[in-house]
Amino acid sequence: MSARALTSSSTPLTGPQRGLRKLGLLRPIDLALHLPLRYEDETCIVKLVAARDGEVLQIEGVVTACEVLQRGQRQLLVTLDDGSDTCTLRFFGFYPSQQKALAVGKRIRARGEVKGGFLGLQMMHPTHRPADDPLPEALTPIYPTVAGLPQAYLRRAVQGGLKQADLTDTMAPEHLAAIGLHADWTLRKALSFLHNPTPDVPLATLEDRSHPAWQRLKAEELLAQQLSQLQARRARADLRAPLLKGTLSHGAAGLPLPGKLLAALPFALTEAQRRVSEEIARDLASQAPMHRLLQGDVGSGKTVVAALAGAICIEAGWQCALMAPTEILAEQHFRKLIGWLEPLGVKTAWLTGSQKVKERRAMLALIASGAAALVVGTHAIIQDKVAFKNLALAIVDEQHRFGVAQRLALRNKLGGGMQEPHLLMMTATPIPRTLAMSYYADLDVSTIDQLPPGRTPIITKVVSDARRDEVIERIRAQIEQGRQVYWVCPLIEESEALDLINVTQAHAQLSEALPSVMVGLLHSRMPMTEKKAVMALFASGEMGVLVSTTVIEVGVDVANASLMVVEHAERFGLSQLHQLRGRVGRGAAASACVLLYATGDAQRLGEAARERLKAMVQTHDGFEIARRDLEIRGPGEFLGARQSGAALLRFADLAADSALLEWARRLAPVLLDQHPAQAQQHVVRWLGGKLEYLKA
Ligand code: ADP
Ligand code: MG
Repeated sequence: MSARALTSSSTPLTGPQRGLRKLGLLRPIDLALHLPLRYEDETCIVKLVAARDGEVLQIEGVVTACEVLQRGQRQLLVTLDDGSDTCTLRFFGFYPSQQKALAVGKRIRARGEVKGGFLGLQMMHPTHRPADDPLPEALTPIYPTVAGLPQAYLRRAVQGGLKQADLTDTMAPEHLAAIGLHADWTLRKALSFLHNPTPDVPLATLEDRSHPAWQRLKAEELLAQQLSQLQARRARADLRAPLLKGTLSHGAAGLPLPGKLLAALPFALTEAQRRVSEEIARDLASQAPMHRLLQGDVGSGKTVVAALAGAICIEAGWQCALMAPTEILAEQHFRKLIGWLEPLGVKTAWLTGSQKVKERRAMLALIASGAAALVVGTHAIIQDKVAFKNLALAIVDEQHRFGVAQRLALRNKLGGGMQEPHLLMMTATPIPRTLAMSYYADLDVSTIDQLPPGRTPIITKVVSDARRDEVIERIRAQIEQGRQVYWVCPLIEESEALDLINVTQAHAQLSEALPSVMVGLLHSRMPMTEKKAVMALFASGEMGVLVSTTVIEVGVDVANASLMVVEHAERFGLSQLHQLRGRVGRGAAASACVLLYATGDAQRLGEAARERLKAMVQTHDGFEIARRDLEIRGPGEFLGARQSGAALLRFADLAADSALLEWARRLAPVLLDQHPAQAQQHVVRWLGGKLEYLKA
């Protein structure tokens, strides 16, 4: 099966071919690297007398009865006699060909789970084949597949791929020795073994992937990931970005913009903010485009760091763009940045999808002429019509909410010449170490590991929904002290209508219980103007309680809010709960977060939900939260949109294989420097056509 045969457009693809393509199995090597999920042992035959209830096994015998039962659901009942006992094979839904293969007198093998019972032994839907088929000598691999691609077809395709693919080793024996792998385990041998293991191998070592053949494959995969990211990083270092030399110190002659901004701020930077700002300033002053992730817990003060980076860029005579995932968040940034930078003479522009045509046109003109030095907005910023005069710094807030394509589009906004803009990505979800070392190895990371002074710790309580009245009393007490309160309801993705019921009911209930308090309502279906009006009332302090869906998840900044109630907290992810909690505790007042959970019988808390709520009570540390979230959920949450393009690990497990990960990280630069051809071969072998994505 050649790659050309599968991609040719003249002949339509058959179902199985479409299946192969869906799985990305285009080249012989892709097929060879498509490894089994598990194995079935068809190498031996078990006598029915020795069968135990619930065991999966293979039996062989003669069909003594074969009838179609018409009563109730149509089914095929076959009696098989193996000399020691008989067993009934039962099929619901069957083909005429099956009836023929299972006719009385045929000698067959059947494989399935045996159930003992009142009517004797039974197998439901066993697989079966004629008894004169040779007994396989290897375990039968079961591959990950898709609808329309039968195991038997896939198995043949994989065996073909294994024969055709170039499997020359890219690693020398001494590299393998470092992870305790014998040189015997060449790639070819490891693959042949995993596709056709001999029955004497303890199945457990295959299942837990501790077998040397699996180790070899996992090491290969991790090395490919490290190599490709290192290549991407080095390729970027060869690109050119505008030189943005600036200094953060104030008092310098003429007070350049960053210094003026620092002097005008109502607070002093924390040590951590200063450190990361300097890391960023160093990147900007270098010709290689910056590719940096700024991570800092909610409320750690990333915005001012972004503003300082922007000031350096603008001071150097270039434009800076800041893109946020939602309009509310973008507007918060915009307000804040205007407040800081416009008094210093910086011209700004604002771009969102909901803008009026006329306003938008005016903004586009400001951006194209370069009159606007700072541009803030949503996805609208990366649309084709938006042309910058000289974009040098692109800042992406909540980077995990944007796709690879969107980041690429932003980078392509620096028109003209061979230059690239600098890229600063910000996230409030800190990335655990193993992920930073693997999926994010091509990024430089700066961490704000300190909150601004004067924040009081937030007390978190998990409370049953049955005690809702007490919670409302608590709200009343907060309001009487002049504080404000958030009440957040979950977003149920399947049904926007249900969301609405949730928030509108909560809103009605609170309005009734607190008649003298202004209770606001905010959800994603409201028109933008209405949302803005509600936000403004809450920000001004006039509105005491804000009931909302998770639209407030990011970016809302009201220091007077001291209580956060999360309804149906059991439905939220851990990082999301942490982000929500970060909306309070921003001022000097003691703050609290109440996590309400529903206790109806149908909604018994699952194990994972319980773990999440427990973690919220036990820790406030964003890194610890992220680590636990990774444990509970796996890496998907963190990778977000990156997931689709980045080389997702199929075989290696970051937690279990951290030693292999360390090894791959050390080996990648060695291989790339000393054996560039092998390194390249290795990357192409493993990642094939997915390489484009790694550039973003
Ligand atoms: P996040 O990292 O979550 O984006 P923000 O940038 O929104 O955090 O900052 C949270 C709040 O803390 C804002 O009101 C901001 O003005 C304030 N802030 C930021 N840095 C400091 C600081 N060094 N000292 C005091 N307050 C600060
Ligand atoms: Mg922020």
